Order: sequence, then C-alpha cells, then structure tokens
Amino acid sequence: MEKIHMCDTYGQYLTMKDEIDAAMQDVIKSTQFIKSGKVLEFEEELSKFLGTNVIACANGTDALQIALMAFNLQPGDEVITSPFTFIATVEVLALLGLKPVFADVNPRTYNIDAASIEVLISERTRVILPVHLFGQSAEIEPMLQLAEKYNLYLLEDACQALGTDYLFRNGTRKPAGTIGHAGCNSFFPSKNLGAFGDGGAIYSSDENLAAVLRSIANHGMKQKYQYERIGVNSRLDSIQAAVLSVKLKHFEKHLKARQDAAAWYDEYLSEVEEIKLPERVPYSTHSFHQYTIRTSRRQELQKFLNGKGIPSMVYYPGVIHLQEAYRYLGYKKGDFPVSEELAQTVLSLPMHTELREEHLEYITDSVKEFFHAKAQRRKE
Ligand SMILES: *Cc1c(COP(=O)(O)O)cnc(C)c1O
Repeated sequence: MEKIHMCDTYGQYLTMKDEIDAAMQDVIKSTQFIKSGKVLEFEEELSKFLGTNVIACANGTDALQIALMAFNLQPGDEVITSPFTFIATVEVLALLGLKPVFADVNPRTYNIDAASIEVLISERTRVILPVHLFGQSAEIEPMLQLAEKYNLYLLEDACQALGTDYLFRNGTRKPAGTIGHAGCNSFFPSKNLGAFGDGGAIYSSDENLAAVLRSIANHGMKQKYQYERIGVNSRLDSIQAAVLSVKLKHFEKHLKARQDAAAWYDEYLSEVEEIKLPERVPYSTHSFHQYTIRTSRRQELQKFLNGKGIPSMVYYPGVIHLQEAYRYLGYKKGDFPVSEELAQTVLSLPMHTELREEHLEYITDSVKEFFHAKAQRRKE
C-alpha cells in the first residue's frame, strides 16, 4: 500500500496534471501574472457555483480583514466569535482594534450557536462572526435573526466549508458563507478547494458591499489612481486562479470523495465506544474539511497510529483565549470549558480526495486495534 497522507495535494494533482499544467503554461505565456482574465474567470465561475458575488484576494486571513474593514467599525467595537478556531479569525479583529468577545462552542458541533451569542450582545457589539469548523455550517438561521434584531453584521468564516450547504427550516438551501452580509474563504493548499500557494475570496450578495469589498482589496481604489478609502493590497495571482479554475471543475467529484471517506469512517468506527465521531446536524451538509474524532486517549492513539504509518493532526491543540498574545483580553482557564475540553481531546484523521478503500480499511482497523487491545488489557 502507498504511504498514507494527511492531505494528498500531489496525488490529487496527478489526476488533473495535463489540465493544470496547460492552464499554468497559459499564464506564463501571457505574462499576465497579476490581474489577468484568469482571475476574473475564476471569480465568475465560483460566483456561479455559489450564487453570490465573489471577490478574490490573497488569502483567507485577508478576506476576513477586508470584510471587517468594509463594515466601517470603530476601535473598541465588539465582535462575537469562537475561541476554538484557527488564529486568523481572531487575529484580524485584534489588528483592526476590535474587541473579540468569545462565546463557547456547542459540544455537539464545535461551533458557536445563537443561544450562547445573545447573552453576550452589548451596546458595543457590531458583528457576529461564526466559523463553520471542519466543514459543517454553524446554525446560521437564528444568528441571522439575532443580527436583524440587534442591527449587527453577520460575517461567516467559511474558510473550511466550501461545498457545505445550509438547510433553512423552510426547505431552501444556500452555500455556507453566502448567507450573512459577507463570507470568507481560503484557498490554502489543504483547504477544500486548494491552490498551489495562497489564495482567498470574500462573498457578498449585497451589491453595494461587494463593490466596497472589491475596492478595499485593491488599495481602496475607485478609478485608476483615485482612492476613495483606505485599502490594502490583496490579490489572487493569475497562476493560482488558473489552478483553482481547473480544480473547481472537479470540485463536486472531490467533495463526494471526502464525504465517501467520512461515511466509511462513520461506519467502521461506530462500534468503538471510546471515541466520539463527528455529529451530523439537520441544518447543514458536511464537506469534511476535517474528519475529527474525540478521545480522552488522544496522545496514546496518535502515537500508536504514527507507529503504523498513519498521520493524524490536532486541530487545535490550544484555545485562543489562553494564547499568550491574547492574554490582554483578560480571559482565564475555565472560561470556555467546552472549547478547552475539545483542545485536549480532538484528533483529525487523514482526509482528502485520494483516500482509497485499502487506506480507509487500514486506518479504521488500526484505530479499532488500539482500543480493542486496550480493552483486553484492562480486562486481564
Ligand atoms: C485557513 C483558515 C483561515 C485563514 O486562511 P489563510 O488562507 O490561511 O489566510 C481563517 N479561518 C479559518 C477557520 C481557517 O481554517
């Protein structure tokens, strides 16, 4: 059996090699490395796929920053978000002088929910910033109602959730990230749609906001050399756009491959009582950016799997409110017990589009072997 990868970017490339190579060659021949038609083409294709306006930018962190800049906030304004996420979600708040206010996550979904948000809304609250962690949407519909009730912005960190749909109570569905005032995505190589470098996008269905977002990403420019606001330089480059266009054509197939791998894990690991599998919720599909289990024996299990040539990763080993850089916020250990517990127990198993049955069988057998051996030893 070939080596098992946590994320098999190269193996996936080989399945589309001719198309990707040709697309990259086109860009090189054109020498239009920045702002070529390729970037606009990709924006249009993704826009069609999602049914909203798409503004490409340099990475997911920038996408978040640009969206927040477009909301015209004041220093000290509060943004309610999760302490159990990638640092970028919170870092951009700090950079813009905004105050992160954390809500603990729901123990079933690892996402913040409306119930934990409403009690935190103050005079200074301006934004609700849920993260669709691991590829499952946070429960957006009640958050949308909260945002309306309190006149707040709803910004979705959908960096892990391309391919995820939110299912409204009335039966309609919309892609995660396209429901709030704005949504953000990342094309970091290991994300659901990964570039061969950095990339990101901001979504908004509000035409006016979309125009502001586009301007901010481009130095705050209105027309050539006329600047209507302070902006940043955040571009998706043409080679990345060309790669992403090719991969977007294969996206549905890749999404299904992830979901099939998750279904295998679900089925073959369901009998292992010592681990908690990812829970499915009625209001969201799951794009399985990560397949994350929980076990109190994480370290031992990780070591055991590693010895068998099976990689695994801890997303995330620390909560943000206890990171040194964010101590100034004044939070302490115990403030968000669910997030803190997750940081101790989560383990993500290999998840990518090139996992074969033999890999999945070997991985699930190994996990079972670990717990089975333990159970036997305890009995003796
Ligand atoms: C990846 C990620 C980001 C940042 O994206 P980059 O492209 O790496 O800047 C932000 N939020 C979440 C939840 C992410 O997973």
